Amino acid sequence: MAKQQQVVIVGGGVIGLLTAFNLAPHVQSVTLLDRSHVGQESSWAGGGIVSPLYPWRYSPAVTALAHWSQDFYPQLAQRLFAATGIDPEVHTTGLYWLDLEDEAQALAWARRENRPLSPVDVCAVRDAVPVLGKGFSRAIYMANVANVRNPRLVKSLKAALLALPNVTVHEQCEVSGFIREGERVVGVQGPDGPIHGDHVVLTAGAWSGELLKTLGLTLPVEPVKGQMILYKCASDFLPSMVLAKGRYAIPRRDGHILIGSTLEHEGYDKTPTENALESLKASAVELIPELAQAQVVGHWAGLRPGSPEGIPYIGAVPGVDGLWLNCGHYRNGLVLAPASCQLFADVLLARTPVIDPAPYAPAGRI
Ligand SMILES: Cc1cc2nc3c(=O)[nH]c(=O)nc-3n(C[C@H](O)[C@H](O)[C@H](O)COP(=O)(O)OP(=O)(O)OC[C@H]3O[C@@H](n4cnc5c(N)ncnc54)[C@H](O)[C@@H]3O)c2cc1C
Repeated sequence: MAKQQQVVIVGGGVIGLLTAFNLAPHVQSVTLLDRSHVGQESSWAGGGIVSPLYPWRYSPAVTALAHWSQDFYPQLAQRLFAATGIDPEVHTTGLYWLDLEDEAQALAWARRENRPLSPVDVCAVRDAVPVLGKGFSRAIYMANVANVRNPRLVKSLKAALLALPNVTVHEQCEVSGFIREGERVVGVQGPDGPIHGDHVVLTAGAWSGELLKTLGLTLPVEPVKGQMILYKCASDFLPSMVLAKGRYAIPRRDGHILIGSTLEHEGYDKTPTENALESLKASAVELIPELAQAQVVGHWAGLRPGSPEGIPYIGAVPGVDGLWLNCGHYRNGLVLAPASCQLFADVLLARTPVIDPAPYAPAGRI
């Protein structure tokens, strides 16, 4: 059935881009709409850790998507690099959690889930990460945790889409509402008029709830502001990711170090603030004292699509034929993207799903 179908996707963050990429080979056409340029909102602003920050604190629903994605990321990055020449730079550095309060829960979760997380003597951490601050007394480590250079990931996804003959990307194209025929959605209202499709997929991140409101539906997805700062050091300065008290340092391959992040409820305001800058700098120096002598070379904010328990909405909107959701990935949209978009395509194309879709189904949750 699907080969004749035309799909309209609203929102070109990592979720919309990868949804388009996965659907394109199986449908007649994909039209991806973004009100600004694709991949410039949360998917650009995030840190790109390919793991939830504290994976043991999440529900099995988030864990299932995270594990599938973690296994798939290297393959996805290779495929995109080969297709576009833009390397998303999946950088497997491992991650140290320092002075955790719930270390016992973390280790119990790792045993249950068969994840390679283990306690490490803090002297061994200092040998491995000589720039680490002196104030820490305990650590646990997972060696296979990677980070992805998310601005490059979205750039690469865009380039891959532009090379596909049946995909059209419209930037500067703000969707203001949906076109209905009875109980069915048959398109969206763009700035220059209607854009029709057999299926409309809402992947508008933190703005998804605003758009659903136009149909009288309440989707509990709200913007949660996060600020980050960036340093540039030598490429071997920080060999692993380190995390303490909710703040983390992420090394990119070229020596850029990201420090994140704040968690703020400020509506749709994403202005970086002086307070956050000072607080992030203090965390940076606590984790890595030498950063006190380094220049901050970037400071920005993004809006995470906050959702209850961080469980995304993946599937059909009940009672509105033709309308689908893939949104609400909160703090984990980069790690969860590959699994979420694979699962989404499975559900829309009525294939056997890679993961049980039930926990993410919008029915009963909106
Ligand atoms: C500081 C920070 C750190 C983070 N760190 C991590 C991390 O380490 N690991 C991780 O996995 N995740 C992380 N995240 C979360 C992750 O970035 C998000 O969950 C993810 O990017 C969400 O992707 P998305 O495609 O749903 O949303 P977005 O990337 O926000 O994309 C939504 C798109 O929809 C478009 N849009 C909105 N309204 C309309 C409209 N009306 N018409 C047309 N287009 C529209 C927007 O322009 C935008 O391009 C972090 C986020 C932040 C802010």
